[in-house]
Amino acid sequence: MPGPRLTIDLTKVLRNVRTVRDLYGRRGVGITGVTKAVLGLPAVARTFLAGGLETLADSRLENLERLRRAGIAARLVLLRTSPSEAEDVIRLADVSLNTELQTLRALSAASVAAGRVHGVLLMVELGDLREGVPPAELPCLFAAASRLPGLQVIGLGASLACYGGIAPDDEKMATLCRLAGDLEAISGRPLAVVSGGNSANHDWLLSAAAPCRINDLRLGEILLLGRETLERRPVEGLHTDAFTLTAEVIEANTKATKPRGARCQDAFGHRPELEDRGEIPRAILALGRQDTWVPGLRPRGQLEILGASSDHVILDASRQPLAVGDEVELDLDYGALLAAMTSPFVRKEVLPAGADE
Ligand SMILES: *Cc1c(COP(=O)(O)O)cnc(C)c1O
Repeated sequence: MPGPRLTIDLTKVLRNVRTVRDLYGRRGVGITGVTKAVLGLPAVARTFLAGGLETLADSRLENLERLRRAGIAARLVLLRTSPSEAEDVIRLADVSLNTELQTLRALSAASVAAGRVHGVLLMVELGDLREGVPPAELPCLFAAASRLPGLQVIGLGASLACYGGIAPDDEKMATLCRLAGDLEAISGRPLAVVSGGNSANHDWLLSAAAPCRINDLRLGEILLLGRETLERRPVEGLHTDAFTLTAEVIEANTKATKPRGARCQDAFGHRPELEDRGEIPRAILALGRQDTWVPGLRPRGQLEILGASSDHVILDASRQPLAVGDEVELDLDYGALLAAMTSPFVRKEVLPAGADE
């Protein structure tokens, strides 16, 4: 069945992974490949591994299960941990990110019951105000976690630029390194992993004199979409078009741009303010909010999105004529990619990496 399709060019993903891995590797920083934007799609996970990564991470157990079912044996990290899921966390993940003693106790019990040793990365809060234990409480949590059977605290991590939009900089990263040192002084043992953040750390890493103790970054967007995430600038040498959304034109004609009649709410409870561009050639795509996050789309070529409802995207086609049955290609940002991957109405099409890659 046709309908919108999301094409994934693995040659481009592979080149991105190799380029970033080489660049970061020269600075002593390893990469954990984050698969959540592609829902743990095994083809993308295998491409991460082919590009030289050894650890994969996802925020959802369903996605980790998909990776395991596909026979992927790499080290798996769970990025978000719920106490009610402790048994499955132990079954599916080698390591999980944690901030709560209650959850660590549940993981410990499940790990002991399964006869396993589960790795724990403690997350510390550095100002972005998403997950993370306050620095003052970190030594206490670390000491308690270190005493729990079945668990091994392998490192310390932080997330910035996720919720509060706070950038990772030299000061934040120096704090993270200092805190890692404090924990090592408590235990008398080195921490294996100091995980400095995500794709938002790119500018910092390239500008930093030395990444101090940081030896891991958890990366999704920069590998998949080729952009750093402070300002979403394309990163030199990376592909920004590994993903393409394609949709079909189902109506093409000339219409006014200013609606006429008594005004009311649109389908989503808003009162649209539509700019009057006069009568223009327009096109409607068989694509809508049930398929993706429309504000995160950018049509390739000379087309412009005027608006969208659940099932229709309206295009200004005045600079690029379209006919019914034509296909239009669109670039996706992270939000649009996440939503398109999650929609059952969007067909996923994987283009394998070439043999010479
Ligand atoms: C999603 C996520 C990442 C990856 O972020 P990108 O911006 O895609 O690189 C890293 N760490 C955690 C905890 C995450 O949830």
